[in-house]
Amino acid sequence: MTQEVDQEASGAEATAAVAPGMFASRDPRTNAVLAEYPIDGPPEVDRVVDRARAAARWWGDLGFDGRRRWLLSWKGAIAADAKALAAVITAETGKPADDALLEVMLAVEHLDWAARKAGKVLGRKKVSSGLVSANLEATVRYQPFGVVGVIGPWNYPLYTPMGSISYALAAGNAVVFKPSELTPGVAVWIAEKWNALVPNQPVLQVVTGFGDTGTALCRSGVDKIAFTGSTATAKKVMATCAETLTPLVAECGGKDAMLVCHDADLDAAADFAVFGAFGNAGQTCVGVERIYVADEVFDDFVARVTDKTRRLRPGGGPDASYGPMTLGRQSEVVRGQIADALDRGATAVLGGLGSIREPYIEPVILTDVPEGTVATTEETFGPTVVINRMADLDDGVAKANAVSYGLGGSIFTRDSRRGVEAAERLRSGVASVNSVLGFAAVPSLPLGGVGDSGFGRIHGADGLREFSYPKAVTRQRYRAPMNLLTLERKARDMKIAAWLLKTRHGRG
Ligand code: NDP
Repeated sequence: MTQEVDQEASGAEATAAVAPGMFASRDPRTNAVLAEYPIDGPPEVDRVVDRARAAARWWGDLGFDGRRRWLLSWKGAIAADAKALAAVITAETGKPADDALLEVMLAVEHLDWAARKAGKVLGRKKVSSGLVSANLEATVRYQPFGVVGVIGPWNYPLYTPMGSISYALAAGNAVVFKPSELTPGVAVWIAEKWNALVPNQPVLQVVTGFGDTGTALCRSGVDKIAFTGSTATAKKVMATCAETLTPLVAECGGKDAMLVCHDADLDAAADFAVFGAFGNAGQTCVGVERIYVADEVFDDFVARVTDKTRRLRPGGGPDASYGPMTLGRQSEVVRGQIADALDRGATAVLGGLGSIREPYIEPVILTDVPEGTVATTEETFGPTVVINRMADLDDGVAKANAVSYGLGGSIFTRDSRRGVEAAERLRSGVASVNSVLGFAAVPSLPLGGVGDSGFGRIHGADGLREFSYPKAVTRQRYRAPMNLLTLERKARDMKIAAWLLKTRHGRG
């Protein structure tokens, strides 16, 4: 079932020594070294943040229109060279070329939206000042923090961090980006595209290295950290940020459930299930990890999903359905969850422990997995899916919500009103009805989670506000007829104030 990648790594390439102070990025399909990057420590990170601070002043002064022009030029440069960027994504993650190109497309759509909408969302607006303060004009606008540190994962090494970078830049911040050690090339590629446009204003810079480089970025004095990665790392990042009271937005893992009602279009639901569970080798934060199916259609649905899944071809070539496990050690998590589920009585209707042939894992479908076992509660991040039964939609919602994560979820039913109502009852930041992952492609929708899936939002108007702080200003337009902001208040004014209080609010 596994396809071979065209270019094999020579032994010499795979084991080549890396220069001191450097680390190598590798193609996970072959282990071939792709390039070497510096391991930036605190002094290097601090220098980069200092440069960013100077650039942030220029960037902030440009205003929304000036920034929009630069961001749209940058977008154009990325889109015009999309295939080259997709090739870097494929080389560093192993994902098929088409998947990589779609990732570029999605990232560019978000950049376009953020650039165009920032002024409208964040610009100065009048708000009502209310009866008591009618003599004041009240306005609110959203101002940039200054320098935002972005720490990104490897699974969507462009789309995911760009969900923070685009919105942070559009809001007027400079960005220092620390990519995953597995995907530094993607980060350097986009920063070089920026530098080619604006060589003297390092508004977007990259620092490279391991977790310690991320820690250094948290301690560097940046004004906010946007972290995307695992829940365990988010806790460490939050502890480091607490040292300096640096605010944090945390986009973490998930254990998303798909609910299939008795009246669902089973074939369409099965298609989405296969895409959501096995696309990108299951390494998707909002991927489908659990499916709950109404009892009466359970066997039919499992048969359809199994049939479609049998046709998948994991491998390293351009026609593969999905690529390798980008992070090799994640295979151990997948192995552990499958073994535990089988030990506890689950059925493997497709694949099993023998499906793990590193760096690839062939698809695994487990059914009737006891609730509460790790395969139903912990993020798998691999090409396996659990399909269990639900008595009805309420039971499905309860099971979907019975985990510590709360990122996404989906409902399949022909009764769309019921579907939307159930989607709103899911304890998750995003949800979709009769599709999966749709929200990720809608730039105006906020993306983020609750519980162990994190807090704060990227994308949409909320994502723009996440990278700014509200600035409230009142301006006195005329002297108040009843002046209460003085230590020489008149008895008459206090009498009116007491009357107003009682009349406006004292009648229950
Ligand atoms: P990790 O948590 O391992 O790493 C995320 C980033 O944090 C990497 O750049 C990593 O650097 C860095 N890092 C590691 N340790 C520290 C530290 N102590 N201080 C600061 N930074 C540190 O996540 P993965 O890269 O493995 O990504 C997969 C995870 O990301 C999954 O859980 C997935 O669900 C989640 N994710 C969530 C998304 C969302 O929008 N909610 C979207 C995409 C992924 P290095 O790689 O060099 O160790």
